[in-house]
Amino acid sequence: MSYFSIRKVSKTYELHPALKEFSLALEKGQFTAIVGESGSGKSTLLRIMAGLETQTSGEVWLNDRQIENPKQKLVPGYDEIKLIHQDYHLQPNSTVEENISRPLLNYDKAYARDRVDRLLFDLGLEGFKDRHPRQLSGGQQQKVAIATALAVEPDVLLLDEPFSSLDSIQKHRLISELKELFLELGTTVVFVTHDLDDALRLTDNLIIFQKGKVVQKGGSQELCEHPKTRYVARLFFHDQSDSRSIQFLPQTIRCQTADQRRTNGPCDRSALLGSLQFPFHSLKKTEGKFGKSTIRFGSIKSEIGFTFILMRKRF
Ligand code: ADP
Ligand code: MG
Repeated sequence: MSYFSIRKVSKTYELHPALKEFSLALEKGQFTAIVGESGSGKSTLLRIMAGLETQTSGEVWLNDRQIENPKQKLVPGYDEIKLIHQDYHLQPNSTVEENISRPLLNYDKAYARDRVDRLLFDLGLEGFKDRHPRQLSGGQQQKVAIATALAVEPDVLLLDEPFSSLDSIQKHRLISELKELFLELGTTVVFVTHDLDDALRLTDNLIIFQKGKVVQKGGSQELCEHPKTRYVARLFFHDQSDSRSIQFLPQTIRCQTADQRRTNGPCDRSALLGSLQFPFHSLKKTEGKFGKSTIRFGSIKSEIGFTFILMRKRF
C-alpha cells in the first residue's frame, strides 16, 4: 500500500465535471508535479487531497488512514497535509516570527521556540524575523507561508501554483532552495502548475492534466519523445509565432558540454530545459531530417550544446 494515495477521485460542481476518476499513489518523500492549463481542475484536486473539499466520489488515504472531507469532519483539514496557495495568506499585522509561531500556540513552549528558530534558519529568514509581511519581497513572503505550513511538520505538502506571482529569478532560486529543503525533511510533495519549466525544476516525475483528466504520466524525456497528444507535444515545443507549424519532434536529443566531455551522452534535465527555449520556428522550413547541429545558448545555456535529429510527426 502506498504512503499517500488518491483513488478514483471525481468532482462535479453542479452539472460541471471538474475532475474525472483521478488516481495517484506516492511513496514517502516522493515528489510529483501536475502540469495543466488554467481551469483543468488542479486546485480542486489539491483541496480534495487536503480534506478541504468534498469529492463526488473516490477516496484519499494517508498511510492507513482515510482522509475525511468537510462533510465528514467538523474542522476540515489535517496538520499532516498542508496546502500552500499562490497568495500567501499571512497575517499582515504579525511579524515573520509571529506568523510562523501561530500554528504552534498549543505546543510545548520550548519545542515551539526551537522549531521556529530552525525554520527561520532553514528558509534563510533569520534576518527578517521582526519584519511584517509588507516589508518583504514576494519570494520572502512565500517562504514565510511555507515555513508556517512546515511548522507542524506535515507529511505531505501540496503546492498550488505558489510561485506564480514571483519574477523568474526569485522563482527559480526559491524552487531550488525548497527542493533541497524538502529532500532533507523527507516531505512528500505534490506541486501543481501551468508551467512545465517550473515543474521540471522541482521534479522529473510529471503528470500532464487536461480537463480534469490525466493525459499522460512519466519522465520528461519520455513525454518529450513520445507525447500521446498534441497538447503534451505543445507543452514541450511551444512556438508562439505559429502553433500550426509544430510537426517536428526530436527523435534523439544528444547533449554535450562545451569541452566535448559528454558527446552523445544521455539527455539530461538541464539539456531538456534548454530545449524548451529552442527557437522552434527557425526549423519551420526544414523537411524531415534536420541533420545535426550544435546550438549554443547565451548565459548558463552556453555551456550546453545540442545535437538534434528531427523526425517529422503530425498530431
Ligand atoms: P485550476 O486550478 O486548474 O485552474 P480549478 O480546480 O480551480 O482549476 O477549476 C476547475 C473547474 O471547476 C473550472 O471550470 C472551475 O470554473 C470549476 N470550479 C472550481 N471551483 C468551483 C466552485 N466552487 N463552484 C463551481 N465551479 C467551480
Ligand atoms: Mg488553480
